Amino acid sequence: MENKHVSKLIIDLNAVKYNLTYFKNKLQKNTKILVVIKAYGYGSDAVEIAKSIQNEVAYFAVAYTNEGIALRNAGITTPILILHPQVINLELIINNNLEPTIYSFKLLNEFISISNIKKQSNYPVHIKFNTGLNRLGFNADNIDLLTNKIKKTTAIKVTSVFSHFVASDDKTKRDFSLKQIDEFNAIKHNFIQKLGYTITSHMCNTSGILNYPEAHFDMVRLGIGLYGFGNETTVTSELKNVVTLKSIISQIHLVKKGESVGYNHTFIANKDLKVGTIALGYADGISRMFSNGIGSVTIKNKKASIVGNISMDTFMVDITNIDCNEGDDVIVFNNQQTILNLAKKSSTISYEILTSISQRIKRVYIS
Ligand SMILES: *Cc1c(COP(=O)(O)O)cnc(C)c1O
Repeated sequence: MENKHVSKLIIDLNAVKYNLTYFKNKLQKNTKILVVIKAYGYGSDAVEIAKSIQNEVAYFAVAYTNEGIALRNAGITTPILILHPQVINLELIINNNLEPTIYSFKLLNEFISISNIKKQSNYPVHIKFNTGLNRLGFNADNIDLLTNKIKKTTAIKVTSVFSHFVASDDKTKRDFSLKQIDEFNAIKHNFIQKLGYTITSHMCNTSGILNYPEAHFDMVRLGIGLYGFGNETTVTSELKNVVTLKSIISQIHLVKKGESVGYNHTFIANKDLKVGTIALGYADGISRMFSNGIGSVTIKNKKASIVGNISMDTFMVDITNIDCNEGDDVIVFNNQQTILNLAKKSSTISYEILTSISQRIKRVYIS
């Protein structure tokens, strides 16, 4: 069924390509690029993004197995790294030609036994080391046992070794990041030496690419940068915005002084007002934190503040001073600055604003 919802997330695939080229130009010629399209391509559309850049990247990565299967079902043939596989998905990983991150002995043992049952040989796996994030990964002192187990089987073959920064975007934590790079270098040398064959190594996310060129290694993992955000305003201003969120005014109410707007009377008009009802709510990713003037939208190039509580499918804005009609366009965000402002006002980061945009909203593409 075609989604004729009036609220739209417009995805600019030309901007995606532009941003990819921007980051490619920061790399040495032989450094490969992996593009992270987890969480529906940071809330946009993983399949359309993958289709538009598949010929320009070495790898895609997603967090969970079902995200990788969706890409395979859409015909994407690029290697896909699963960042956070679970034991129950390992057979599906093999069935769909996906490449697991192996981050624990439990996962390693299970994957070797399933690969054996499914008569695999040299199945590509990626080994993740923890260098301080304490989220996923082996520790340096696991290397001996790890390489022993890997060398005992022909069912799997290590393709890459990687780690992840704790705070690559934060220049005040530079010493810690440099320590992580040193530790990863030591791990990688020791691991590769004991493994006995050459593999790819990678560490940098977007802000790592920008701040730590000495840590680009053989490949980098580009996420938020593809969607138009660098870790500082100078970089962000050089990138192109990818997503625009638009809706319409469904209805206009003339609200008398003393009346309230929205659930639970949290907003009382202190003068007569004209109020527009917008066809978006918290179920679409417009956080309730934006209620009552914290957030605003743009209508006819003018700012309209949110009045009352955001509800599930709607919110209301003050349009008293805007010459507009029912059915007119409403812009929630259309550049990086509006997204960053919304993030700041709701005490979060651009990543969360983007990934909160729900699947109910129709996606349209510029290419
Ligand atoms: C999400 C993720 C990335 C991408 O990070 P950005 O900051 O968006 O570039 C890279 N590596 C891992 C392991 C991730 O989980």
